[in-house]
Amino acid sequence: MAETDRERRVIDEVTKGLIIGGSVRDATGQKTFGVEDPSTGEILCDVADASPEDGMAALDAAAAAQADWAATAPRERGEILRRAFELVTERADDIAMLMTLEMGKPLAESKAEIGYAAEFFRWFSEEAVRISGEWKVNATGSGRVLVMRQPIGPCLLITPWNFPLAMGTRKIGPAIAAGCTMVIKPASLTPLTILELADILAEAGLPDGVLNVVTTKSTGKVMGPLITDGRIRKLSFTGSTEVGQKLLQQASEQVLKTSMELGGNAPFVVCADADVDEAVAGAMLAKMRNIGEACTAANRFYIHADVAEEFTKKLTERMGDMKVGRGTEEGVEVGPLVEADQRDKVAELVDDAVQKGATVRTGGQVPSGQGYFYPPTVLADVPTSARLAKEEIFGPVAPIFTFTEDDEAIRAANDTEFGLVSYLYTKDLSRAIRLSERLEAGMVGLNQGMVSNAGAPFGGWKQSGLGREGGSVGIEEYLEVKYVAMNV
Ligand code: NAP
Repeated sequence: MAETDRERRVIDEVTKGLIIGGSVRDATGQKTFGVEDPSTGEILCDVADASPEDGMAALDAAAAAQADWAATAPRERGEILRRAFELVTERADDIAMLMTLEMGKPLAESKAEIGYAAEFFRWFSEEAVRISGEWKVNATGSGRVLVMRQPIGPCLLITPWNFPLAMGTRKIGPAIAAGCTMVIKPASLTPLTILELADILAEAGLPDGVLNVVTTKSTGKVMGPLITDGRIRKLSFTGSTEVGQKLLQQASEQVLKTSMELGGNAPFVVCADADVDEAVAGAMLAKMRNIGEACTAANRFYIHADVAEEFTKKLTERMGDMKVGRGTEEGVEVGPLVEADQRDKVAELVDDAVQKGATVRTGGQVPSGQGYFYPPTVLADVPTSARLAKEEIFGPVAPIFTFTEDDEAIRAANDTEFGLVSYLYTKDLSRAIRLSERLEAGMVGLNQGMVSNAGAPFGGWKQSGLGREGGSVGIEEYLEVKYVAMNV
């Protein structure tokens, strides 16, 4: 339940229906589901619970709008994105409140996400006018080769709950820039932020039908028929590897172009020559950003034995001092986890590590009271047999392992089926380059605890995914290449 007038206002004002073809409508049979505040477990409001027919109506709208939208001037598409960037930035305080209420993270973190999320609109507003092609003379000298890039067509975008806005703008931005229409399905735990964003995009001038929003609890039943309907030409998914694998199978039916931003299990390697204070500051960011509920979250800390105790002590002090509470409260640095299952999974992983011999340096106990809180936790002497050495924790828990040789650290860091991001701290430039090259990950944070950047290609190796979002390659995911063989 919203607790203050401001909380009530942002909840009252947000659209709660399906957004299809520019109209807000109820789901078939007026079905709805509740959106919970994870800090209290109470329902904030109800939103439309789409049926498979509603999902299909959203696809109909996207398909109907595709041809006109693809024909708009790139500058016009860019300017819509630019206006949306400005509106999101102006309204950051209210959007942050909405996001904190439905997702739990502290207001300052929601504001930080909004800044990051808006950057995708600014970045792709600039990319919209830079879609290029190629022209060349055949090797024989007679014919010509013309290469053009065209919008791929209607896209299905499926986003997770952990970054309710940024995971949306990272897909919507390039799709708009490229000239694609969309159906987006936000996570059912956090649908409100995307509904708010859709209203902002309409205000920024996005034509009806270009972005259609489907909220549902019957996710598989509503999404399945869309994925296998030949009109969808692109599936962009951010979420767990398990669901991503299922969707890839479904996508194979229509040989859909897919982008998959999946799970992570990031290693955080600190060499003996690292600046320990900087490494601790980076670890705080890599671990505690988003309460640890980030695909980029440092999951396993490999610290050189010479600096392991100093690093552990300093990290323990910083994590132990963090203020835990409802995200809307002043000064709170750690909100609740998103739901009871998530909190229970984190507790289970910690208990398993402790049973196998890990030492709790701070945290480690589920607090009593309402909400899905888990305290910042540091575990030392963690055996490699602990489940959290292999599984994505998705919570505020830092397990510390030690090493003595670089080779040992790299082997351990790469010993995972995931490969999203790795963090590396060293002051030695040649070691930094050598080890960065050996880390099996799509991204490396070198002496920094955060890699997210709208202007850089974000994505993973191995089971962390397919494709890249952001940077100059981000728009390619929404374009098809066509080559015209010219008899000149
Ligand atoms: P999830 O359970 O995989 O859900 C993600 C989205 O997929 C939600 O919208 C969910 O809808 C939907 N979904 C679930 N089952 C589906 C199905 N059968 N068909 C179609 N859609 C389906 O993941 P999550 O728990 O929300 O997010 C956490 C995961 O996302 C973590 O593994 C994290 O590492 C990953 N992640 C990756 C990145 C990256 O860029 N690599 C970024 C952020 C998060 P419902 O909400 O209705 O279930």
